Amino acid sequence: MLKNNQPVHPLGTRARVLLTSVFGPYAQDDDYGSRKNNPMELYQNQVTRVQGGFSLRMFHRSFGLMMIQANLTAPCTLLDFPTLEQFRSEISRNVYDVIGISGILPNIGKVRKMCELIRQYQPTATIIVGGHIANKEDLRQTIDTDHIVRGEGVRWFQRYLGQDDQAPVHHPMATSGFGGRIMGINLGNRTGGTAAILIPSVGCPMGCNFCSTSALFGGKGNFFNFYETGDALFEVMCKMEKTLHVRSFFTLDENFLLHKTRALRLLELMQENGKSWALYVFSSARALQSYTMDQLVRLGISWVWMGLEGEESAYDKLLGTDTRALVDRLQSQGIRVLGSSIIGLENHTPENIQAVIDYAVSHDTVFHQFMLYTPVAGTPLYEKHKRDGSLLPEAEFPNADAHGQYRFNYRHPHIRDGREEQYLLQAFMEDFRVNGPSLLRMIRVLLNGWQRHRNHPDPCVRNRVFRETFPLRSIYAGAVWAMRKWYRNDPRLHQKAERLLEDIYAGFGWVPRIVALVVGRYAFFTLKREEARLAAGQTYEPRTFLEKNEAALALDKAPALGSKVLGRDRQTVAHEPSTVLTA
Ligand code: SF4
Repeated sequence: MLKNNQPVHPLGTRARVLLTSVFGPYAQDDDYGSRKNNPMELYQNQVTRVQGGFSLRMFHRSFGLMMIQANLTAPCTLLDFPTLEQFRSEISRNVYDVIGISGILPNIGKVRKMCELIRQYQPTATIIVGGHIANKEDLRQTIDTDHIVRGEGVRWFQRYLGQDDQAPVHHPMATSGFGGRIMGINLGNRTGGTAAILIPSVGCPMGCNFCSTSALFGGKGNFFNFYETGDALFEVMCKMEKTLHVRSFFTLDENFLLHKTRALRLLELMQENGKSWALYVFSSARALQSYTMDQLVRLGISWVWMGLEGEESAYDKLLGTDTRALVDRLQSQGIRVLGSSIIGLENHTPENIQAVIDYAVSHDTVFHQFMLYTPVAGTPLYEKHKRDGSLLPEAEFPNADAHGQYRFNYRHPHIRDGREEQYLLQAFMEDFRVNGPSLLRMIRVLLNGWQRHRNHPDPCVRNRVFRETFPLRSIYAGAVWAMRKWYRNDPRLHQKAERLLEDIYAGFGWVPRIVALVVGRYAFFTLKREEARLAAGQTYEPRTFLEKNEAALALDKAPALGSKVLGRDRQTVAHEPSTVLTA
């Protein structure tokens, strides 16, 4: 059924919905498109991948699916990170009218398999596919789906199920990560210890030619706000603070600071209400520079993911910016920077690649992401390569490998024979060799923040800085002690750790001196153990989540009542043994 060109499900909010991510395990090479070098861990995948036991290991939920579920009144179950068997079990044991799958293009083999299983076990269900994979031009010929949703999915699903698509957006109350681990130590899930996930907008109007996130939500000039104003954002953040007992927010918005009116109104409200919050944001360099440092500090900007791309890369967002000076200014204020550089821009050649890497490494950001310049379907860069016929056919280069951490999916004008794989690794290794573990850098920047702002006139800033730097007296001091020992045969990094430890002792007195001895020995032991595990091939996988909204829970609790509510009988389907899901 179509209404104003939008498909509408005949059952409306009586339809039973399953939303699912693609199946794992992820950190392995398999026929469905899992790849060892493309694990489901953001940092290990593309930021700290060569840092061994120092790598930050952490998983992030499928937040798009969570956002959709939070805004549906229809009974909706969310299955996140299932195995293939868990997915098969779910669709063989329960009846669904609508099954939505979200994926990226490298997951196309998994999405295809899941569609096949749905047709087999739930032949009457409508299949909806969304996420980055939706930008693939011939997707409908490749997988057996009923609808493909390009771009923002919350409002689409509301319209599809006959709900009001202008209603205020409900935000899921969730933390930003789980399964955190570094130096072989589990980071735990202490209440309030992990930032909440906050999604103010999707898309970015800057429209950089390679940016698939921008392209997915309309490209240049386009974005979609879930929360238009600082007031609306403040309200949802207050709710998160109360529900999750958090004061830090991982702000999943492609370019949060670009929405300046909203950000400055949020700052006003934070100040009026004495909110000592920390914000971890994505921001382009130019957007960052449109604020004074004082505004950034008072707004609680503690961590920034920023595109550095490459020297002379000519992106609008970098025009007139000395990114090295900017990073230095931010990090001297305690703001941790995750810089992102591209390997394989049009002007990169085997002759200049070392200079490209040296330039990136010279930023000395706390974290550094390196990605291959990869044309992803839907982006202007993809269209350009399509026009000039330089894209590699799928038979030559499978979609599963086009994730930016392996090889080019096109013929580069200067870099040939798969050498980019080596250049990419070289960039990660050089950054690690020169600047040391990201943890060491992060602790230095935190100490900078404490030195700079511990007597800040604004109590909200003072409190935030106190909170963020409190572990310098204990576990961070111990971690630096362990790193100093770890690098006992590397004079440069040993000295870097030594100096940092001395500065911590100078700042915090005798407590860290004693604690560092105990914690440091333990951290050194766990680090050694972790290195041994990794050398033996240890990988990590996210646990599986099965979550139901109120309407789905009501159906489970009272199937008879559920039948009445739905106005029809629940069907039974072929039953397979139940798989235990951890939730
Ligand atoms: S500024 Fe960043 S988020 Fe925006 S389009 Fe460019 S790469 Fe994408």
